[in-house]
Amino acid sequence: MSHTAIPLSTEISFADLNLAQPLMRAIADAGYTRPTPVQAQAIPLVLAGGDLLAGAQTGTGKTAGFTLPILHLLTAKPLASQRAGRPRCLILVPTRELAAQVEESVQTYGKYLSLKSMVMFGGVNINPQIKALRGQMDILVATPGRLLDHVGQKTLDLSGVEILVLDEADRMLDMGFIRDIRKIIALLPKQRQNLLFSATFSDEIKTLADGLLHNPGYVEVARRNTTAELIEQSVHLVPQKLKSYLLAHLIKHHDWKQVLVFTRTKHGANRLTEKLIADGIPAAAIHGNKSQPARTKALAQFKDGTLPVLVATDIAARGLDIDMLPHVVNFELPNIPEDYVHRIGRTGRAGSSGAAISLVDSEEFSYLKSIERLIKREIPKVTVDSFVPPANLPAEAPRPPRQPHGQKRHSHTTASAPRPAGSGNRNQPSRDGQGRKPGSQQPRNPQQRNGPQPAKPRPAAKPADQHLSEAARHQSMPQPALFSPKPVWRGK
Ligand code: AMP
Repeated sequence: MSHTAIPLSTEISFADLNLAQPLMRAIADAGYTRPTPVQAQAIPLVLAGGDLLAGAQTGTGKTAGFTLPILHLLTAKPLASQRAGRPRCLILVPTRELAAQVEESVQTYGKYLSLKSMVMFGGVNINPQIKALRGQMDILVATPGRLLDHVGQKTLDLSGVEILVLDEADRMLDMGFIRDIRKIIALLPKQRQNLLFSATFSDEIKTLADGLLHNPGYVEVARRNTTAELIEQSVHLVPQKLKSYLLAHLIKHHDWKQVLVFTRTKHGANRLTEKLIADGIPAAAIHGNKSQPARTKALAQFKDGTLPVLVATDIAARGLDIDMLPHVVNFELPNIPEDYVHRIGRTGRAGSSGAAISLVDSEEFSYLKSIERLIKREIPKVTVDSFVPPANLPAEAPRPPRQPHGQKRHSHTTASAPRPAGSGNRNQPSRDGQGRKPGSQQPRNPQQRNGPQPAKPRPAAKPADQHLSEAARHQSMPQPALFSPKPVWRGK
């Protein structure tokens, strides 16, 4: 996947950052010509040894922004003797995928150094991790729950941590990890360097930062794609039961090679994946009910271009370094308008524009309106004249009710079973985080808390089926049509 679309600093070069030669070699090997803005700002602050509060999300180059200076600092100050299972740097992350990616970055940038790293997350056998902890380990990348399991089993000693990184801190709080994080912080030596990365700054994050950071340096980089200028956005107004057919048609007709499809629920992701595969389109679903090897395999195949379609839930896709894609499809619109911006922010590559396509059923009109209000523009409604829906549609399964717009998701169909005590999977509240722990279901910010109200029933300005192609309208539209001039409004 090309990453040339990443914005680079125009003022500062890597040579200005005074990183050790082995790191400069690794940077050159990675093909990076200049630091990104977050790297240009964060690296000098971390090298100076101070605490850091950074506002940056995935896709800004933030991982190298903390990994490079950490590797430099640890190499510059080698330990006289090192004990097994006692990391010098702890990087806490919200999800397994992000943990794997961050540790991969540590390895990539540290390949000419003798430092050792390890990744640990839940959902996999703990024994190989226990074995690995018996060796040298300088940098540990971990999700909070599994880390605490190791502490409980006394297989991990956190008394040697010199640098703590909280990566995607807002997601960790969203996923209900605050108590685990506080427990972990209490186990660390008082004297240490703290780096906190977060895409958003809610009151909760500010409270965490206030208690954790001492005189921090601040770095903030613009959120990606909030203007979405480079992204070609479009909406297809289409009944839910036709969506999978339209999507299959679009993929085949345009020969899309790499498309990330967002569904609202894990079951929805599975159903859609099965339908696409039945239609001859290789696809895989990625969500919390999938085993870790299955998720890793699907992600790797999607990234290397052998799997054209990845179907994901929002939380499963979060933090994944799968951006700069040519196509993102919203199979259903998200409940939270901001999630739309996050989703479509994954498109756009190397100067050319990306396309974000939303398949919208009449029940989703109020979501669409809220999104358009947020992005301050109307998304063009387009028709697909070449699409002919199948004549005999199977009966539609009843759909679970959706939440009023603006509320956090805690899916009706994806609630996870209560975790048995000591099951060793605390770090995955519902494995992809969709089922939140009690007390963690607060909306992220006051705006979301008050959330826009569902739209009032009113006749559509234009019958929605006018947006469908002639062929689609004349082919078996459901009776009574979902898209009648008087749509069936929900949320009254
Ligand atoms: P991150 O925001 O850390 O997830 O990084 C997003 C992507 O940007 C990763 O695939 C990195 O390999 C890539 N990247 C990081 N730094 C640079 C750079 N200075 N120049 C080009 N690409 C970079």
